[in-house]
Amino acid sequence: MKRILVTGGAGFVGSHLCERLLKEGNEVVCMDNYFTGRKSKIVHLMDNPYFELIRHDITLPYFIEVDEIYNLACPASPVHYQHNPIKTIKTSVLGAINMLGLAKRINAKILQASTSEVYGDPEVHPQPENYWGHVNPIGIRSCYDEGKRCAESLFVNYHESNNVLVKIIRIFNTYGPRMEPDDGRVVSNFIMQALQDQDITVFGDGTQTRSFQYVSDLVDGMIKMMATEDTFIGPINIGNPGEFTMLELAQTIIDLTNSRSKIIHMPLPADDPMQRQPDITLAKEKLKDWKPSVDLRSGLEKTIKYFDGMMLQNTSIKEL
Ligand code: NAD
Ligand code: UDP
Repeated sequence: MKRILVTGGAGFVGSHLCERLLKEGNEVVCMDNYFTGRKSKIVHLMDNPYFELIRHDITLPYFIEVDEIYNLACPASPVHYQHNPIKTIKTSVLGAINMLGLAKRINAKILQASTSEVYGDPEVHPQPENYWGHVNPIGIRSCYDEGKRCAESLFVNYHESNNVLVKIIRIFNTYGPRMEPDDGRVVSNFIMQALQDQDITVFGDGTQTRSFQYVSDLVDGMIKMMATEDTFIGPINIGNPGEFTMLELAQTIIDLTNSRSKIIHMPLPADDPMQRQPDITLAKEKLKDWKPSVDLRSGLEKTIKYFDGMMLQNTSIKEL
């Protein structure tokens, strides 16, 4: 049995990862400061004697004995990471330093949840890992993009200078149950709007593209990356190459929910990437038997069912 620390474990992805690691017979320590995470996402794990919850902010050091660390703590929705940009940078950079320092001290293997945002508004399409990106270093997304880029540099340098066993994954847009309904990301926004027959808010003309990955495919990829040979550190893209415009996404969600919603257009936020699609050649080669297995329609159906159930029960997930 391994003892595994998941920072950001009470968030959307982290809660699924904690659940899956427990199912595989590990002991899991979930660390979170509840900035965007909630206890309600992991409350079903609390009775498990192998699950432990720690309220802690990773911008401050912490000492604990574990075998592996998954470093997920960081707000991921533009609305949330732009709320306090300096705090976002501190979480990415100081958080990485603290977790890498811990990994070094206790000889643990550590995986960084990096992002397709390191490619910025890409001029190479689809994006392979050896593309250096096109990021505005002073724009409204820079606190997140540059914070994550600096974290990648820290991971590589702790590996090269201090022999820390590191893994870097670049996650492309991921969705699924346990996203926050008011999280601000496109999938949760469109589903909540469609379920309530409200206008669907497409930013810009809606021709910008994203590649959407269902959360279980991401969790599979993360665990397989952690298990790769020690000499392979990444970075590696984890995403679903199916590429859709925001107009296509809106129409698919309207169809799947039988909604009476109309599409309206709102201003496109600054520096919003026009296209994004992962090149997953490396992931297919390095991650044993991994490939995205949930297509957009099936993933959306599961996610719609989750939001629908949440609304029906009238249980606000903010209560806990
Ligand atoms: P999320 O906002 O649901 O989860 C982030 C979690 O980190 C929350 O529980 C939050 O409370 C916690 N957190 C934030 N700052 C913290 C701090 N200083 N100390 C301790 N905990 C803190 O987001 P998510 O979608 O689950 O994303 C998880 C990770 O994956 C993030 O690092 C994100 O950058 C990365 N990622 C996600 C996506 C995606 O589409 N979901 C894409 C690329 C990268
Ligand atoms: N978007 C949109 N309507 C919304 C929320 C987002 O059209 O209500 C667009 C946004 O401008 C972007 C895309 O959807 O082009 C994905 O946005 P999200 O915030 O989900 O992720 P990111 O921009 O970080 O990839």
